[in-house]
Amino acid sequence: KKLTSSEFRQMFLDFFKEHGHMIMPSASLIPQDDPTLLWINSGVATMKKYFDGSVVPKNHRITSSQKSIRTNDIENVGKTARHQTFFEMLGNFSVGDYFRNEAITWAWEFLTSPKWLGLDKSKLYCTVYPKDIDSQKVWEKAGMPKNHIFKLEDNFWDIGEGPCGPDTEIFYDRGQENNDVAEDDPENFPGGENARYLEIWNIVFSQYNHLPNGKYVDQPHKNIDTGMGLERVLSILQGAPTNFETDLFLPIIHATEEMTPGKKYGVNKADTTAFKIIADHVRAVSFAIADGALPSNNGRGYVLRRLIRRADLNGQRLGIKGAFLYKLVPVVGKIMQSHYPEVMDQRGFIENVIQNEEERFQATLDSGLTLLDELIAKAKKSDNKTISGKDAFKLFDTYGFPYELTFESAQDAGLKIDKKGFDKEMQAQKERARKARGDLQSMGRQDVTLMNIKDKSEFEYGKYEEDHAKLID
Ligand code: ATP
Ligand code: MG
Ligand code: MG
Ligand code: MG
Repeated sequence: KKLTSSEFRQMFLDFFKEHGHMIMPSASLIPQDDPTLLWINSGVATMKKYFDGSVVPKNHRITSSQKSIRTNDIENVGKTARHQTFFEMLGNFSVGDYFRNEAITWAWEFLTSPKWLGLDKSKLYCTVYPKDIDSQKVWEKAGMPKNHIFKLEDNFWDIGEGPCGPDTEIFYDRGQENNDVAEDDPENFPGGENARYLEIWNIVFSQYNHLPNGKYVDQPHKNIDTGMGLERVLSILQGAPTNFETDLFLPIIHATEEMTPGKKYGVNKADTTAFKIIADHVRAVSFAIADGALPSNNGRGYVLRRLIRRADLNGQRLGIKGAFLYKLVPVVGKIMQSHYPEVMDQRGFIENVIQNEEERFQATLDSGLTLLDELIAKAKKSDNKTISGKDAFKLFDTYGFPYELTFESAQDAGLKIDKKGFDKEMQAQKERARKARGDLQSMGRQDVTLMNIKDKSEFEYGKYEEDHAKLID
């Protein structure tokens, strides 16, 4: 069936509504009551209050399409067929209501019934936790061919303490022609690192409580949480080789093509990747800003800054001159409007924020990129194939290249960066800035050059890294 993204999203919600669920609108991307999380990164992240019992929902069956951001996937964007930073997670949740039987049976029904998605059963596979015999039985009874059920030790969701349990993942076979590993590669199976078997849906059976003493006990109320990647399933429904050749991305990609001096999507790998990165990042920043985030030097704001600069760097590589990303905001707004009016509603504001941020970076982008290319050439000739910390820091400090951007470019070129050296330069910079601030006060006037130093010291990269380490999976 060739459904549009809106039709498919609605169909999922309708299916679970028919099975007694209440439809919950997507929550904000910015966690409302959870200081441990930087971004909402899944449907279940918004359901914590129901699962921990602090709030009792009106209906114990809930379904939603949840806006999600995963920064741990930034570098996957454009490289894999299946990852974005911003995506929608479709989900159904049982708060102490139905359990394994219904969760698996309904998933199978939704995927395969001609009334719903009607996917080819011979292309569906699943993985289960080896000791979770119950799930294997339910899968077989539902109609999953026995030899399409794979046992995987990884299929146990456990964060050390608290609710946990086995999970089962569903995969779609995109055919041997889409595989990027050899036939005899140990990763060549559903659940392995390959592009043939696309993970589309994850179902978690939260049935145990992991106690501080290491014991596992049954939970009095067992919960179900599931997550299905909307864009991934859409790629199957629309016959797209990756998430990007779907109605959610193509209009953005085409609008980007118009801004290049004649570059086309799909002609060569480097350009195609750049188009994908731009289309992904503009969605992420548009929605993040609509939900109240703003570019800054740490935490969430730093993620936005990094995404905007990464998009601009890729725009530059496609030959686009000057700020451009903000011009794609109305395209994103229009695609998503029927279900998420927030981008269109705040269009002017979002455009302004992005354009301002772009202009700050564009001022130094050309010379920064020239320097980056020089540094890469220099490092390639060096014995240790490493960009020095000093050089990486110069890119950061003078040209506004986030460390991760330089790191990624180095990696693509098969090079390393002296991270320790970079951190040392950063520390020295902070020292200088502190001193400068002291001098400034004693002089009792605002010297322009010193103010500039102060401004740069606010680029607290170290702070962000700390947040990053703590808050992101
Ligand atoms: P993968 O192994 O492919 O990275 P995951 O196991 O990390 O996926 P889950 O945490 O299980 O993903 O999330 C549930 C579902 O959300 C996945 O099965 C997938 O369909 C979708 N999903 C996860 N990450 C992304 C992403 N970065 N972009 C698009 N969809 C995603
Ligand atoms: Mg992942
Ligand atoms: Mg996975
Ligand atoms: Mg998964």
